[in-house]
Amino acid sequence: MDASVLVLNASYEVINICDARRAIKMLVKGIASAEREYEREIHSAHAAFKIPSVIRLFRYVHIPHRTVKFSRKNILLRDRYTCQYCGKQFPPAYLTLDHVEPTSRGGTTSWDNVVTACKKCNTQKANRTPMEARMQTIRKEYKAPHIVHFLHMSKYSAAYHKEWQEFLFAR
Ligand SMILES: [Zn+2]
Repeated sequence: MDASVLVLNASYEVINICDARRAIKMLVKGIASAEREYEREIHSAHAAFKIPSVIRLFRYVHIPHRTVKFSRKNILLRDRYTCQYCGKQFPPAYLTLDHVEPTSRGGTTSWDNVVTACKKCNTQKANRTPMEARMQTIRKEYKAPHIVHFLHMSKYSAAYHKEWQEFLFAR
């Protein structure tokens, strides 16, 4: 019952992650349907259920837009503690934040311009643009993580559930 379940709005938009107990309650109450299931089953006194992996609400619920707080901790988490120049993973103490376009050149302190860099790469890049330093970031684009990616990364392991991906990357 500790399995995590992706919750979709009626529109298929990802809205949350909950545990299997709560998801099954929603199925039993008839307010959601199972879109994907795990192989495992659980047995109650009267019935056996396959544990849902993805559920979808029958009725659309309005969810206010939620954003992930911009912070050092959250940037490291988004980048999975991986230097975005050399591609190696480090413990947090060895990592710094780098402005891809330096602030002196108008680079902003935002999700799309701040990345994780190891101390060595940051020192090497110094106050230069990637072009000047001849150091490209390992990804083309950076942005704020989707709130649910983030919930998942912070609450659970970094490995995504395979069957969630089509929903998480749908938009
Ligand atoms: Zn590095």
